[in-house]
Amino acid sequence: MGAAFEILALAAVGAAIALLLASLLQRRGTHAAHRPAQPADTAELENRLRDADARAAAVARDAALLVELVGVGVVRVAPDLTVTLANEAAHRLLGRRAGAMPGKSALEAFTDHRVEEIVRTALEAGSAVGELTVRTAEAPTILARARRTTSGDAWLVLEDVSELRRLQRIRAEFIDNLGHELRTPLTTVSLLAETLAADAGSLPPKAAERVAKIEVETGHLVQMVNELLDLSRIESGTAELLVADLDLAALATATAERMRLFAERQGVAIDVAAPAAVPLVRGDAERLGQALLNLLHNAIKFSAPGSTVTIRVTATESRVIVAVEDHGQGIPRADLPRIFERFYKVDRARSRVAGGTGLGLSIARHIVEAHGGRIWAESEEGVGSTFSFAIPVTGPDLRATPGA
Ligand code: ADP
Repeated sequence: MGAAFEILALAAVGAAIALLLASLLQRRGTHAAHRPAQPADTAELENRLRDADARAAAVARDAALLVELVGVGVVRVAPDLTVTLANEAAHRLLGRRAGAMPGKSALEAFTDHRVEEIVRTALEAGSAVGELTVRTAEAPTILARARRTTSGDAWLVLEDVSELRRLQRIRAEFIDNLGHELRTPLTTVSLLAETLAADAGSLPPKAAERVAKIEVETGHLVQMVNELLDLSRIESGTAELLVADLDLAALATATAERMRLFAERQGVAIDVAAPAAVPLVRGDAERLGQALLNLLHNAIKFSAPGSTVTIRVTATESRVIVAVEDHGQGIPRADLPRIFERFYKVDRARSRVAGGTGLGLSIARHIVEAHGGRIWAESEEGVGSTFSFAIPVTGPDLRATPGA
């Protein structure tokens, strides 16, 4: 017992001494850190500074090498719009001889007011994007993206998208040709089926049933071809927007009227909720009417008889939002991110019964985006869906779009 006590006492004393030493050493350390630099320390400090400088220079050389290596054009512009850096690709893409850009004003350097405008917009708004065809012999299509840095300068990145756009044009032309080739025979088959169906009374019941099926399926095919043609025209930009002042509340009422008969057949009511005065937007009435019609058609199609579909129009200072709200079957969470893709259908068997091509939402998205707007969907399976789109009151800005 006595021995154990002695050991404990010794350990306690040892610990106390250790703590004292540690605190003394710590204080010495603090004093040393606050002592003015001695000549030996100055030399050490200089060494460290030299090392840091060398490392910074190596990083800068690496960054410069990377800027030259990447295939895209990279330009840095100061807040006063002077070009401070431009790589070889930027000179090539804009048709300037090597070294012609640094030190020049943006307009002198780019010799294209559209590029200057993109940079100016980014310096003011934070970011900007635009696409342009350069006026050189090769006339490349350039996607120009600019972003303001934390130091107030702007980075401008130029990407040659000529080949991508050429392939997209070929694809659109192919779909367009195919659509036109298919449309004529399909219309004939559809008309013939319609004529046969009109005479169904004189046909044996089995034949009448088959004719009715042919009529429905050719109807689907005609609709699919028409929508494909619409989509390819909108995608390729050949469908010109006829932009004018547009009252989206009036458009909502007119679209509800167009769908009234279909809704009645489905036993669904349509309600339009809009404030007394909605700001006018700049938009194409026919195209936006088509987008809204597609959303409304779906809302009715996927609703149970007896329910109500509401078109709700709201406005902020800068945009007008149109929402189509249903209490139908809803969309599973996993499918929601994909429903705006072309041909995407949540449940093929279900859509087959309801009819539809899987193109309606894709068309609506393209129309809304061509107006500089945004479209989105919220949905809960078994509860219902709300599809909304927002159109800026200023309409499509086809030059430099801030915020991209
Ligand atoms: P479709 O012509 O098949 O209706 P869309 O592109 O318009 O093609 O819609 C794609 C798919 O998204 C539909 O097949 C359907 O599964 C789903 N969908 C669209 N709108 C609704 C809605 N309001 N309620 C439930 N499902 C919807």
